Amino acid sequence: MESTTPPDDCSVKVAVHIRPLIGDERLQGCKDCVTVVPGKPQVQIGSHSFTFDHVYGSSGSPSTDMYEQCAAPLVDGLFQGYNATVLAYGQTGSGKTYTMGTGSGDSSQTGGIVPQVMNSLFTKIETLKDQIEFQIHVSFIEIHKEEVQDLLDPTSTGKVANVPGKPPIQIRETSNGVITLAGSTEVSVSTLKEMAACLDQGSISRATGSTNMNNQSSRSHAIFTITVEQMRKINTDSTDNGSLKEEYLCAKLHLVDLAGSERAKRTGNDGMRFKEGVHINKGLLALGNVISALGDGKKRKDGAHVPYRDSKLTRLLQDSLGGNSRTVMIACISPADINAEETLNTLKYANRAR
Ligand code: ADP
Ligand code: MG
Repeated sequence: MESTTPPDDCSVKVAVHIRPLIGDERLQGCKDCVTVVPGKPQVQIGSHSFTFDHVYGSSGSPSTDMYEQCAAPLVDGLFQGYNATVLAYGQTGSGKTYTMGTGSGDSSQTGGIVPQVMNSLFTKIETLKDQIEFQIHVSFIEIHKEEVQDLLDPTSTGKVANVPGKPPIQIRETSNGVITLAGSTEVSVSTLKEMAACLDQGSISRATGSTNMNNQSSRSHAIFTITVEQMRKINTDSTDNGSLKEEYLCAKLHLVDLAGSERAKRTGNDGMRFKEGVHINKGLLALGNVISALGDGKKRKDGAHVPYRDSKLTRLLQDSLGGNSRTVMIACISPADINAEETLNTLKYANRAR
């Protein structure tokens, strides 16, 4: 298929999503400490100023522009065979799940990135299905303490890390560089409704676990993956009696709700909690290093090492970050002064990704 046009821009795009002050912050009398430079994708906090590709919410562009500017080009790319990744980064409570739209187990809430991706995906398929045969699969996993857990496992509630007799999910790489998840549930879906049901099932499974397991969901990365396979018969000859050739394209889109970026609090922690913190930092640290290596055009040309293997997260996303794939990171921040330190950390992390 016409997969010859390269993506207009292969680099990593970074957007900032500023949520409004929420009830709790207002009650505590928090002040807004983040300002957006009018007409520019520029954010100021204290004496620091950062420029990104886009800034949404608060006094930046309305969040309704976010899907069109950040995610829609990635969905278009899927149909041309390009892998893509959308990452929501930020401290717990900054709006990652809200931004992705994966929180409530109710995907009829259509504002988030994921519900809008699903919608436009099936709208597009509808217009193309006469010429192209589509096969769509989804998986939904969570990486917690460097272990991959299946949120769509029909045989468990999704929270049992080690179902007896069930081998752990393994990240594998095929000889042509395609990353696969051996042992995870891949659900074949043919309608928007079926896909939404998978999203809901996994979101519920994730939320259920988090209430009785140390709020696990804020310490784990949740990855909803849509794989689009296309088969098209094309006439290889301009005359009518030309032979029919089959063409095949496959691409996937990872939609990632990352673990909370806050530093593990050392005080009053048992060893177990601290270990979790360390592991999560491992994924976010590796991601930061990978994205920064990809963004550094000069280093990339010199064939510099991109440290994908440093964490499960980056290993899993390896074939969908860099190369021909498109990546968007949405850094989510709270405007409240009590969060200023973490907000600054988030902006610094996001800034490194550009
Ligand atoms: P995180 O997933 O990063 O921990 P959440 O997405 O759960 O954060 O958001 C924390 C709270 O803030 C939730 O109550 C959510 O509804 C609210 N919230 C987040 N972003 C927005 C937004 N852009 N507008 C309004 N409320 C928001
Ligand atoms: Mg969340």
